[in-house]
Amino acid sequence: MYDLIRKTSTVLPEDVTLAIKKAIAREEKSSVAEQTLDIILKSIVLSSKNGLPICQDTGTVLVMIEGRPDKSIFHLEKSIKDAIRKLTKEGILRQNCVCPLTEKNTLDNTGKYVPQIHFEPVNGPTRISIMLKGGGSENMSTQYSLPNSKIQAGRDMEGVRRCILDAVFQAQGKGCAPGILGVCIGGDRASGYLIAKKQLFRKLDDKNPSPVLAALEKTVLKQANELNVGPMGLGGKTTLLGVKIGHAGRHPACYFVTVSYSCWATRRYVVELNQKGEIKKWI
Ligand code: SF4
Repeated sequence: MYDLIRKTSTVLPEDVTLAIKKAIAREEKSSVAEQTLDIILKSIVLSSKNGLPICQDTGTVLVMIEGRPDKSIFHLEKSIKDAIRKLTKEGILRQNCVCPLTEKNTLDNTGKYVPQIHFEPVNGPTRISIMLKGGGSENMSTQYSLPNSKIQAGRDMEGVRRCILDAVFQAQGKGCAPGILGVCIGGDRASGYLIAKKQLFRKLDDKNPSPVLAALEKTVLKQANELNVGPMGLGGKTTLLGVKIGHAGRHPACYFVTVSYSCWATRRYVVELNQKGEIKKWI
């Protein structure tokens, strides 16, 4: 868990780095957008080379565990917390957990419901997904309840498209654009946010198995990048690096569209463990 979280904080996933390189090539030569992305890329290379955090905000640790429900889950929980405490001491994770009642920082990145650990029973090998979610980008995440007359969004895919583009437009580059969106259509208020966040684990070049959602992802990405919000909101052709949309069953009375906004520093890795609890492969 120490290796996994350390790498997540210091080495940006290949697909995200590649998307930033492609964005640099797309922007006008010597534009503010190109220069901004170039600084970001230089920073990514430096962090990886020197084993330093990709961003000063090392985020909140989100953990998703899939596996057989047995006692090993308790070992995993302990390993995760121990690793987080150690990495916080080493400065690879910033002290990011504040108690809202006392306003005191717990100083070790653990606290009530922190880190967030979700368990999903699966009859297969244990997989751990880790995400370090930046606070600035989390502030830009949002949820819509349809119908929404303000943005003329009905309970259909056109309404969903309007919600997602509105979220990007409202963010105006805050939360450190270019961003990556994880979206959930349906679910309830709580599951919507979790399923939206889960989409952020998908590789940027994967293809949505649903043709409807695949088409929507493509359209929203194209249209968002025509808004001229650009990197850090300074204008340009790259407002988003990717859009990933999932769905969940909804109550007949509810129609939620939840947008989890992630910054250019989308730090996430997934590993599979062997029987001994060691990392068998990076996914
Ligand atoms: S939003 Fe992301 S890139 Fe911006 S400060 Fe937070 S973690 Fe860093």
